[in-house]
Amino acid sequence: MFKALVLEQAEGQISHGVRELPDSALPAGNVTVAVEYSSINYKDGLVLSGGGGLVKRYPHVPGIDLAGTVLDSDQAAYRPGEQVVLTGWRVGEVQWGGMAQRARVNGDWLVPLPAGLSTRQAMAVGTAGFTAMMAVLALEAHGLRPAAGEVLVTGAAGGVGSMATAVLARRGHQVTASTGRASAHDYLRQLGASTLIDRAPFAEAAQRPLEAERWAGCIDAVGGNTLARIIAQLRYGASVAAVGLAGGSKLEHTLIPFLLRGVNLLGIDSVMCPRERRLAVWQRIATDLPVAQLEAMSREVGLAQAPAVGAQILRGQVRGRIIVNVNT
Ligand code: NDP
Repeated sequence: MFKALVLEQAEGQISHGVRELPDSALPAGNVTVAVEYSSINYKDGLVLSGGGGLVKRYPHVPGIDLAGTVLDSDQAAYRPGEQVVLTGWRVGEVQWGGMAQRARVNGDWLVPLPAGLSTRQAMAVGTAGFTAMMAVLALEAHGLRPAAGEVLVTGAAGGVGSMATAVLARRGHQVTASTGRASAHDYLRQLGASTLIDRAPFAEAAQRPLEAERWAGCIDAVGGNTLARIIAQLRYGASVAAVGLAGGSKLEHTLIPFLLRGVNLLGIDSVMCPRERRLAVWQRIATDLPVAQLEAMSREVGLAQAPAVGAQILRGQVRGRIIVNVNT
């Protein structure tokens, strides 16, 4: 038997509870993992509330991230006792996820726990940190260098934003953090932001296709009008990595900044990211992430608290990263 957070749906309402399940309840897969930690991302908030139509079948075990130890494996690449991490691949949405003491998954989705990280630290990183690192690498591959000037991070106090701020600052970039929470300013300075700005002006619709050039690069977790304004404010040849849509999924713009300033809009997808790329991104996380700051930006909850935190993340009320200890 193992403990799991189980979601059920009846008459359009989601209910949840921590239940004891037999191993025979686990879905098909070729590797069974004794999960130690999961985490709560924006998408987990949607799954926990039944939003976004992400889950098609109930009962469902949420958790788009997991880290733990292999118990049993039919896949040669993994042996019992090995520590592993899983993010994405639609686990926790169409597959049962990490908010349980056991998960059975396709071994191709796993990566070995990166050297130097504990399973708990890997979940402090989770999808949010993995995505932030993908975005940093995309900006750097498109020419961003530390001396280039201000790099903007939006949704900065959230999970992706906190990780992006810390990693960019650690790599020597000059980070400007945009947030709606004045109470998060000290926290963001501690993560390495040198300038703090209010997010509200970004939400106003752009009046002109080109505004004064400011940003040498940007990691945007907000989308909508915010992304449109950022594109208009990018410096000549600069790039914005579009990571999220916490403020809206619609993008209205003209081609003018692309044609007159040669700016780039870089799409970031962590879910179906191919395995070779995943290994490279995790490698960079293990070497470039300021581990002390990882602790400062994360807090731990148990399985039973996850639904309430999921509701808070959808309201933009969660600061940094939430680790789920599945054994508490
Ligand atoms: P969080 O909720 O932790 O962070 C989102 C932040 O965005 C909030 O903390 C808040 O920051 C800001 N925000 C929230 N609502 C609004 C709003 N209406 N207008 C402007 N800003 C807002 O979520 P995550 O960091 O987990 O995810 C961020 C986004 O990235 C989500 O849209 C998520 O779906 C997406 N994502 C995409 C991935 C990919 O593969 N592309 C992977 C992971 C996440 P503040 O208080 O500082 O203003």
